Amino acid sequence: MSEIPLSSPDITDAEIDAVVDVLRSGRLSIGPKQDLFEQQVASRCERSHGVAISSGTAGLHILLKALGIGHGDEVLTTPFSFIASSNCILMVGAKPVFVDICPQSLNIDPKRLEAAITDKTKAIIAVEVFGNPMHMDAIEAVARRHEIPLIEDACEGLGGKLNSRPIGNVGRAAVFGFYPNKQITTGEGGMILTDDDRLADMCRSLRNQGRAVATDRSDSVGTNATGSWLAHERLGYNYRLSEINAALGCVQMDRLDEMLEQRRRVANAYTQRLLDQHDLILPTGGTDDADCSWFVYVIRLSPEYDRAARDRVIQGLRRHDIGASNYFPPIHLQPFYKKQFGYEPGSFPITESISDRTLALPFFNQLDDTQIDLVCHTLTVMLPRERLLLDDAV
Ligand SMILES: *Cc1c(COP(=O)(O)O)cnc(C)c1O
Repeated sequence: MSEIPLSSPDITDAEIDAVVDVLRSGRLSIGPKQDLFEQQVASRCERSHGVAISSGTAGLHILLKALGIGHGDEVLTTPFSFIASSNCILMVGAKPVFVDICPQSLNIDPKRLEAAITDKTKAIIAVEVFGNPMHMDAIEAVARRHEIPLIEDACEGLGGKLNSRPIGNVGRAAVFGFYPNKQITTGEGGMILTDDDRLADMCRSLRNQGRAVATDRSDSVGTNATGSWLAHERLGYNYRLSEINAALGCVQMDRLDEMLEQRRRVANAYTQRLLDQHDLILPTGGTDDADCSWFVYVIRLSPEYDRAARDRVIQGLRRHDIGASNYFPPIHLQPFYKKQFGYEPGSFPITESISDRTLALPFFNQLDDTQIDLVCHTLTVMLPRERLLLDDAV
């Protein structure tokens, strides 16, 4: 039996040809592919600026820098996410303040968010967890009311919609990540989106060693008409996206709708097969107003189960060479967060209770019905055993 991985990128000859073309062109960084990729993502998300970046994490980092957030500041965010959405706050020396989630959307609970705002709150980072934009409008309303910049960590949501607005269009700025398990990939890469001209320029400067935007393209002798390539206005980073990666991204953007359709097909196929499993809570795909983009297919065991049961199911799937993972362990209980901030289990009970019972199943565009059958069969054979253990314990 062959292995079914948790995720797999969807690369066709078109992507391969585009990358080879760049290699033959002699222009490997800061060139036309970066510009085109920025335009494609910005236009898809109805934003005026796209700033291509070397990763989603790098994008979140320089966005916080560009907003002037640093020591002494607090940023509200979710403990139920990939760790980068909180690490970026530590990278600028600010303090992440976690707000527990809503069990329905798995996103920050807007009511708790409002209650958590203090004088020190300088930004909010909200995530469409697993690509579901539900509650992002309410979160945006809280940010507006308190005049606090909202950063949309849209890394899991490319292609989703909130009341006909694309994910990536919420808040002061949004960030996408293009790691190989995301809806589109550039190998490594990311994109900052905003309508704010000054913020976009600041991000462009920070990604390119603090150069002024007008001088950020060198000609072959290292200068251009407006200034010197070696003039640096501020402390910046090298967070540029190479032309090789950008070319890959351009083709993936051309194929986005086709790929989103494949992901929807796989999600529906899982749901159809698992619908009558009463010990499982299935992902909904959002609501009429909040249309999710399928990033992963994460199910969870019903509330009477515990983490040990979930872990046994994951191990059981893996023994059959089926990829499965516990998306996500709570960020506040990661060892270095516990150590630095003294969090203990119980700090964010909704996040912890949900996180204990979630498991991601294999999810990628090429997953076929035979493989989906096998995953669902393997899973459903294991569940009665967990049910028995549970009943015995009562
Ligand atoms: C993937 C992801 C990121 C980071 O993206 P990278 O490109 O891997 O740095 C940030 N936030 C969330 C919620 C993610 O899922």
